[in-house]
Amino acid sequence: MAHHCLAPDILPWLDRLNDQHDDMLAKTIELAEINSGSLNHQGVNQVLAQLQKLTAHLSAEQERIAVAPLTEVNDNGSMVQHRLGDALRLRKRPQAPLQVFLCGHMDTVFAKDSSFQQVRWLDDDTINGPGVTDLKGGILVMLKALDVLEQSPWAEQIGWEMLFNPDEEIGSPGSAPLIAEAAQRVHFGMIFEPCLPDGNLAGQRKGSGNFTVVSHGKAAHAGREHHLGRNAIRALCDFISAMDDLNGQRPGITFNPGYIHGGGPTNIVPERCIHRFNIRLEHPDDQQWCLTQLDSIIAAINQREGIRLELHGGFTRQPKLLTPANRQLLFMAKDIGHELGIPLEIKLTGGCCDGNNLAAAGIPNIDTLGVQGGAIHSEQEYLYVKSLVPRAKLSAAILLSFARASAFGEQFDWLAASSGEQQ
Ligand SMILES: [Zn+2]
Repeated sequence: MAHHCLAPDILPWLDRLNDQHDDMLAKTIELAEINSGSLNHQGVNQVLAQLQKLTAHLSAEQERIAVAPLTEVNDNGSMVQHRLGDALRLRKRPQAPLQVFLCGHMDTVFAKDSSFQQVRWLDDDTINGPGVTDLKGGILVMLKALDVLEQSPWAEQIGWEMLFNPDEEIGSPGSAPLIAEAAQRVHFGMIFEPCLPDGNLAGQRKGSGNFTVVSHGKAAHAGREHHLGRNAIRALCDFISAMDDLNGQRPGITFNPGYIHGGGPTNIVPERCIHRFNIRLEHPDDQQWCLTQLDSIIAAINQREGIRLELHGGFTRQPKLLTPANRQLLFMAKDIGHELGIPLEIKLTGGCCDGNNLAAAGIPNIDTLGVQGGAIHSEQEYLYVKSLVPRAKLSAAILLSFARASAFGEQFDWLAASSGEQQ
């Protein structure tokens, strides 16, 4: 594989980012202090309004798109719908020879009523705040990198489609169709999830599924008519034990019982309870194995008279396997990082993101181009602020390297070679 050298005439364009630190930091903090928990659609839309302002100067075609509501089983075992915030999509130069998809999510895991709403300094180099790293700092990295492309003389070589989605933290149920649509039009993807806490990039990623089991039994008074009751909690406990026993039966697959709710007064045989769990796996073929196992556990328990278990949910993220094109893209980023003094390795991770969806649609992508920080999804979430400018330079350098090479007549057949999607 050829070593990618950063063309010397790219460097002055990257230097334009040298004085952008304060601006990136201020805007990251501003976005982080708008609560945008995935189910807080007003807050997500407030972030969207800010992003409309921050992208106005790009003079791209801009669409605000409503996405389907989230449907889920509530604690009572009933199906409910939650409205989600809108998505924002920008497109520019759809006729350019090379098309890139840029994606960052607006939502966070911190609900509207979370106690974690403000940004504070931990030390001179580090801030703590909701979404500072996942993914609001990444949004600034994406925007600044794109600014550099737009200012450069090679801009017309690359057309781009930028998606700000409202629901990544809950598995992108509403925005998945928008990502699949983009996959029909682009050659590669850049996603601005945080890099790994040590600064490295994610390569292969596991797939993920979220499920809910509702257990229906029959209520009865525990004293007078215990024998008439059918205990929903007992049935669910048997299910959870059997499911948890699947751990270790097949390599790369994990089952995690995560939430349990139900029952009531102790003098009543409980008639209903629910359980939520997550499955992670490395190979797409294993999804069917998991579903078959779950079905047979449920079928066995449902043999009991008066007991009924229902399974809801499914696999929302396919495993991200590295195709040769995806590998080459990652190594290109690594080489460019090396020249910019940003040492990068490619690591496997159990986490998943929109990069999984894009890869499943056949589009090579790098999905950890955002900022460096850690403890994401917790109130300890921190951002190493000195990563803002270097990460913007890294993404800008990737975009400029493609654009400049295209201007010199280079073809990028390797991007499509293993994607299955021909433009
Ligand atoms: Zn994220």
